[in-house]
Amino acid sequence: MEKLYEGKAKILYTTDTPHVLIQRFKDATTAFNAQKQEDFAGKGELNNRIAGMVFRYLESEGVTSHYLDTINKRDMRVRRVDIIPVEVIVRSIVAGSLATRLGLEEGIQLAQPIIEFSYKSDALGDPLINDDHAVHVLKIATTEQLRELRRQALLVFQALKKMWAKADLTLVDCKLEFGTTVDGQIVLADEISPDTQRLWSKDGERMDKDVFRRDLGDLVETYQQVHDKLAAAWPKFTIGELADVPH
Ligand code: C5P
Repeated sequence: MEKLYEGKAKILYTTDTPHVLIQRFKDATTAFNAQKQEDFAGKGELNNRIAGMVFRYLESEGVTSHYLDTINKRDMRVRRVDIIPVEVIVRSIVAGSLATRLGLEEGIQLAQPIIEFSYKSDALGDPLINDDHAVHVLKIATTEQLRELRRQALLVFQALKKMWAKADLTLVDCKLEFGTTVDGQIVLADEISPDTQRLWSKDGERMDKDVFRRDLGDLVETYQQVHDKLAAAWPKFTIGELADVPH
C-alpha cells in the first residue's frame, strides 16, 4: 500500500489491484481553508460509514460513483479516477458563503437548485469560477464536461434531498467532486458526508460541519445523530460491524 495523496480529511492509498484505491477517512477537521483545524476522535469512522451508506443509496438510485465497498472502520475501496479539479456546489437554500457574498439571510428557499463551480486549489482557497474560467482560462474541463457535471450534480442533489428527507433532515447545499475513469466515464467521487453538505433539522439545528465552523456544540455527537437517523431511515444501506484499521 503506497500513499498516493493526503488531503485535509482523507488519504488515498494504492492497492495490489490496478485501478482500485483505498480512501481513508481521518479524524482531522478543517474549516476556512484550514485556518481552523482540530482532530475529533471518531469522526473518521462516522464519515466513512455515512459516505458508504450514501454511495450505496445513490447506486440504488442509478448514480454511478467511485465507491466499491467499505472494508474497515476508516477505509473504503474506490475506483481510481482522475479528479476534475472543479468543486460542484449545489444549493437549494441560501446559506454559508452564498449568504455572505450576496448579503442575504440564511434560510431563503431558492426557486430551483443552483450550481456554482469552484477551482479546487488549496493555495488559492478554492475560488468561485465560471464556465469560461474553467474552459478557456484554466483549461481544467471542456464545455461538454461542465454540462455533464451540471447534469449529474442535479440528479445527485435531488436523490440526496429525498434520502435526507426520509431521515428528517433538510439538505441545504452540498459540494460534489467528479473524476474520469480509465475508460473516460465521468463518475461521482470524493466523499459525501456532513463535512461536505449542510443538513438542518426540522427546527433549524445545524447537523453538519457548521457545528465546528461556528462552535455550535459537539461535532462527533452531531455526526453520530446524523448517522443514526440515516441508518434508521434506510436500514438496507447500513454498514455492519467493521474491523479496526490493520497496522
Ligand atoms: O461555504 P459554502 O457556503 O460555499 O459551502 C457550500 C457547501 O459546500 C457546504 O455544504 C460546504 O460544506 C461545502 N464545501 C465543501 N468543501 C469546500 C467548500 C464548501 O465541502 N471546500
